[in-house]
Amino acid sequence: MAVYYSCKHCNVQIGKLDLHSVGSTDLGLNQLTDQEREEYLSYDDQGHMYVKSICEDCYEMLRRNPDFHALDSFIQ
Ligand SMILES: [Zn+2]
Repeated sequence: MAVYYSCKHCNVQIGKLDLHSVGSTDLGLNQLTDQEREEYLSYDDQGHMYVKSICEDCYEMLRRNPDFHALDSFIQ
């Protein structure tokens, strides 16, 4: 099983974790609420997990342009 992190804004792949030795508790995912899990996590047929996150580029852009939060739909 692998965990893929991708940016929810531009869809770039941020990273990948192989979960042979790491439990989900070690990822901090147990701290998410059910609603957050539904929003940020998804699984494919093979049981791989996908986590929506934010890449450095988008983070920088949002940090410098907080108004872009209002335009969140421009990418979805
Ligand atoms: Zn991004």
